[in-house]
Amino acid sequence: MLLDPAPGTAGNTRSAVDTLRLQVQNIALCSHIRPHDGEATGVTYELNEEQKSIQDLVRRVAREKVAARADEIDRTAEYPHDMFELLKDLGLFALPFPPEYGGIGSTLAACIAVEELGRVCYNTGYLLVVQWTPFGAIFAGGTEEQKQRLLPGLASGELRGSLSLTEPQSGSDVSGIKTTARRTADGYVLNGAKIWATNSDIADFILVAAKTQDESGAPLGINLFIVDKGTPGLTVGRKEDKMGARGVPSCPLFFDNARISAESRLGPEGGEGFKVAMEALNTSRPIVAARAVGIAQGAIDHTVKYIQERRAFGHAISDFQGARWMVADMAMQTEAARQLVYRTAAMVDAGVTGKALAPMAAMAKCFASDVAMKVATDAVQLFGAAGVSAEYPINRYFRDAKVVQIIEGTNQVQRNIIAGSLLGKAAK
Ligand SMILES: Cc1cc2nc3c(=O)[nH]c(=O)nc-3n(C[C@H](O)[C@H](O)[C@H](O)COP(=O)(O)OP(=O)(O)OC[C@H]3O[C@@H](n4cnc5c(N)ncnc54)[C@H](O)[C@@H]3O)c2cc1C
Repeated sequence: MLLDPAPGTAGNTRSAVDTLRLQVQNIALCSHIRPHDGEATGVTYELNEEQKSIQDLVRRVAREKVAARADEIDRTAEYPHDMFELLKDLGLFALPFPPEYGGIGSTLAACIAVEELGRVCYNTGYLLVVQWTPFGAIFAGGTEEQKQRLLPGLASGELRGSLSLTEPQSGSDVSGIKTTARRTADGYVLNGAKIWATNSDIADFILVAAKTQDESGAPLGINLFIVDKGTPGLTVGRKEDKMGARGVPSCPLFFDNARISAESRLGPEGGEGFKVAMEALNTSRPIVAARAVGIAQGAIDHTVKYIQERRAFGHAISDFQGARWMVADMAMQTEAARQLVYRTAAMVDAGVTGKALAPMAAMAKCFASDVAMKVATDAVQLFGAAGVSAEYPINRYFRDAKVVQIIEGTNQVQRNIIAGSLLGKAAK
């Protein structure tokens, strides 16, 4: 299904917001959205009435309340508190969380919401995604006490989280981190430095990856630790000045003998707990990929409008076959990405995990973000010099698309996962 183009003047904003809030609440009360085929290996999907309704309503809210803010958020690179409050008010943070933690348990609905917001404003869609990034790790590796403490708050928007793996010397190679968590009599003491911890300056807690050591400093493997805002010894540094994804800050973190309790550790000590948490990131990968679909569709929306208005050689640009075929390719690739993302999301909702999910999740993220980059590049080309000018929004889509190819595991790393599922590990 191709989404209808360019923002219009649909409906009354207040009623769209109210209706969406009610819709999310009703679904939370009544049902756990499921794909219509629960077989792990043959998952298919069809958007059910609730999901279609969420799509329609988020689309309206995006056009009527979010689109007008998109350029300003990008230009000022200031955290959009108003957009966070809007999403919270609508109840959208709840979408992927299981009902027992206040959600409706639908990764597919989460993808649809992210896509529709990202279509007009990447940064507002990003507010949902950062809220959901720590969720998978806590859900997979957390104790019931940790889940009860953190997940309902994330689902309602009362709490904000951040996930910090990357360090100056190691991004893709997580095993190369140097931050340590040394066991003490009553917990751990953290030392080290992180970079690119998105949302960390606003978050109530940060999930921090560190190399766990016993009291003597002997290595025990990597763990994630829940570090609360304001923990003595934790300093959040100055935010990066980014090319894209500018509205949600990414900051360095410094740990100088930061003391945390034993209950802050996620999962058992050593590599196993970390592995479980990292595998859980596969479940949020379709949501990351949905951002890319939103970017691609938004770039198409703007391009279709622009080339019908802009004229050259006595014709609208949209009359030239060369331009028409470019737009056809953009639509074709975007639709293929959308179907891959929705199907992967349906697999997550059907409970597919591990080796069955990992390559699909990698394909969805890699393919959708490569498509977003290609589509946004062609969109800028079709705008001509206007595509380069800050007067038009299209260069924002181009800059944001580049970011999605790099974050949450670069697209080379995704290709390694896919190849590994076919060929096993490469010989060294
Ligand atoms: C906007 C933004 C937000 C971010 N938010 C977060 C966050 O919230 N939390 C967090 O922990 N991190 C975050 N990051 C960091 C991000 O996860 C890393 O940048 C990413 O994992 C890549 O790591 P790197 O930059 O160190 O690149 P490197 O690992 O140094 O890689 C450099 C290049 O080499 C390639 N490469 C590396 N290894 C291989 C290989 N085995 N095979 C083939 N090619 C390879 C990479 O694909 C890349 O092209 C964010 C980054 C950005 C830009």
